[in-house]
Amino acid sequence: MEQTEGGIVITRRGWWGSALLMVFLFVGSATAIAGGKKSDVVIGDTEERDIGAKLAARIRAEKRIVADKAIVDYVSRTGQNIARLSDRPDIPYHFAVIEDKTPNAFAVPGGYIYVHTGLLKALDTQSQLAGVLAHEIGHIVARHGVKQLQEGLGVQALTTLVLGGASRESTQTVVDASVAVVMTGYNRNMESEADSYGAMYMARAGFNPEGMAQAMDKVAVLTEGGDGFWESLDKKHTPAAKRVAAVRAEIKDKGLDAGLPSDPQPYRTVKSRVPSRPPGRWSRAPASRSPRYGA
Ligand SMILES: [Zn+2]
Repeated sequence: MEQTEGGIVITRRGWWGSALLMVFLFVGSATAIAGGKKSDVVIGDTEERDIGAKLAARIRAEKRIVADKAIVDYVSRTGQNIARLSDRPDIPYHFAVIEDKTPNAFAVPGGYIYVHTGLLKALDTQSQLAGVLAHEIGHIVARHGVKQLQEGLGVQALTTLVLGGASRESTQTVVDASVAVVMTGYNRNMESEADSYGAMYMARAGFNPEGMAQAMDKVAVLTEGGDGFWESLDKKHTPAAKRVAAVRAEIKDKGLDAGLPSDPQPYRTVKSRVPSRPPGRWSRAPASRSPRYGA
């Protein structure tokens, strides 16, 4: 797990803005190919995990990672139960909680999944959390992150990331842009594929997949206009109501709910521990974990 000791870490976040600026260009090009065009992933499994580890290290250095064992263990246990029954159970999965009020979650290639405290606060049952995690696991199974990076940044840049050889600055630029890409979300087809896989994996793991639809409803209420959704900074995404309806239709068609429990390990036991970020409560990251680059 990418947790730190002794509380929660505050680090610099200045680089984020410039990385996001870059990502809008990349996502623009990635969105243009949405609509069914298949892209071949040439980045191998080992390379994907290597890229993921580099991005995870960057996230660990730049984000406030929640260290409360009760929260981290609950999220991780829920996620691992789903991941081991997914169609890609043979890679290690890592779950971490980021202290951030935005109701968001995202997956990094290679098996790294992050949930914001703002999303944890919005949820009420374990199956709703399972819905969020299962969707992210769906992205990892379908290798959406690495596809998006390959299309957005190019194989050359990713190869350099794996093999090295570029200057520290240009490597860091690729890492920052990559993190921004995976945080921004994916095209409509990828999102719907992740929803579909996620609902199926939830049922396999014994969580009522209705929890995924409920989590979507909750996030839609929290976000402006009801159109926002986790991962999605792009307003052109499918409206939440449509996705929720599609998930519920799939659950019904495939008979996935079958009386599965919605809250087997009561979520309230961890929800009350999720921090709301009062100022000054967090410990600061050691200097060695806060590299001096970025904007
Ligand atoms: Zn997604």
